[in-house]
Amino acid sequence: MNIKNYINGEFKNPVNNTWIDNYNPSDGMIYSQIPNSSREDVELAYCSAKSAFKQWSKTTLEERSRILIKISELIEANLERLAEAESKDNGKPISLAKAVDIPRSASNFRFFGNAITQFASESHESVGQDAINYTLRQSIGVVGCISPWNLPLYLFTWKIAPALAAGNCVVAKPSEVTPMTAYLLGEICNEAGLPKGVLNIVHGLGTTTGQAIIEHEDIKAISFTGGTATGAHIARVAAPMFKKLSLELGGKNPNIIFADCNYDDMLETTVRSSFANQGQICLCGSRIFVEASIYEKFKTDFVAKVKALNVGHPSKKDTNIGALVSKPHLEKVKEYIQIAKDEGGKILCGGNEILVEGFENGYYLEPTVIEVPTDDCRVNQEEIFGPVVTIMPFETEAEVLDMTNKVKYGLSATLWTNNLTRTMQMSNQLQAGIVWVNTWMMRDLRTPFGGVKASGVGREGGFEALRFFTEPKNVCIKY
Ligand code: NAD
Repeated sequence: MNIKNYINGEFKNPVNNTWIDNYNPSDGMIYSQIPNSSREDVELAYCSAKSAFKQWSKTTLEERSRILIKISELIEANLERLAEAESKDNGKPISLAKAVDIPRSASNFRFFGNAITQFASESHESVGQDAINYTLRQSIGVVGCISPWNLPLYLFTWKIAPALAAGNCVVAKPSEVTPMTAYLLGEICNEAGLPKGVLNIVHGLGTTTGQAIIEHEDIKAISFTGGTATGAHIARVAAPMFKKLSLELGGKNPNIIFADCNYDDMLETTVRSSFANQGQICLCGSRIFVEASIYEKFKTDFVAKVKALNVGHPSKKDTNIGALVSKPHLEKVKEYIQIAKDEGGKILCGGNEILVEGFENGYYLEPTVIEVPTDDCRVNQEEIFGPVVTIMPFETEAEVLDMTNKVKYGLSATLWTNNLTRTMQMSNQLQAGIVWVNTWMMRDLRTPFGGVKASGVGREGGFEALRFFTEPKNVCIKY
């Protein structure tokens, strides 16, 4: 089956007829092909977006909201089909796609469909100067949205929904590793009555299709989620062109566990925050620091729970951990396990590839827990982005703060404690864009989402996203 580009409301082959294989990670087989779109395809998408912009930017907020909410309802109506497609394309358990990825994709459209009706701008009365200022929040024009493979439809729509709500037209590129649900989204947008050209989806490699989007001089803003090295490259290309940039990048998130926490809650959530989606969530807590007094108990209990996780085919109901997204990614994660061993890390469980019966060419890896002798090792400093976590003890708050803040990343941090003063003090000092206390990945879509340091620039979510996708203009009137 061939996936096609979605341009001006129609499904099109790439101009140069060049295609890339699309793999099913659960069995290692090629099951579809996607366009490797060239500059010409991106230009077609841009032109279609540009001609749709005139009308879309003037479409009433009520009408935009109605269409976005309709898209959300159609995503919900197609839950089974989309979840199956996501699971097949990405390797994640179908249960996860059904419970998280697809419902959240629907929520993204519903949330921004509602949010735009509440989005307002400020006015400032210049007292004593007989003047009033008001701020317009104008749509930018054509914007680019580029997303990664780990939460394919979830992160794709997290960008597209606010961009459209704010009256922009979009040229979007999903990851070439997981293109399927983005392709299906095109059909849903047509059915929802989204006018032609408002959203255009081009498929292809980052270095060809993605590069053409970021280099396009009339695509005025880029919202990107992906790796830190790619983010740095995009900034180098786009900054001299004065594009607006939102960069959501990698992480190496600490999970800090104090002895006074609610132990059972912490243990259950820590298994999830370590291994959900095969550990391939930018928010997973991959470095676990445990207060020394409960370290041995935690180690025993955690390893027992991790060993009980079921690695299997993503379509099976009892599968906790599916396949990693691709062969190269599996190899990268295995390399890090070897690095951990070379650095003196002790593998407490896992560490090996798994052959799942009937699917022997799939990319399966045991969930892996590594006890590290020091925080300075590479596996504690570099992003692995797989089912691999490290654990080590700490004695004092100061010591654990120092270790958590030493990494170059700063996306999220999780803190387990019932001590209020410690909660407040540590939350203030943790270098992260998001701090969870006694929970993980609890999301309220109104809150700012993003990272500091090498984890990115800018914030998504709520009105932050609508501000990013609009250009403020101050009008000063003297009376
Ligand atoms: P990646 O950077 O390789 O690719 C992300 C997207 O960028 C893909 O669509 C890719 O085709 C495109 N791309 C690559 N080169 C490009 C170029 N030169 N120009 C334009 N586009 C280009 O990342 P990935 O491997 O798909 O995703 C994993 C990474 O994403 C991890 O580092 C993870 O932490 C990060 N991530 C971050 C967040 C967040 O919210 N901060 C969320 C999810 C994933």
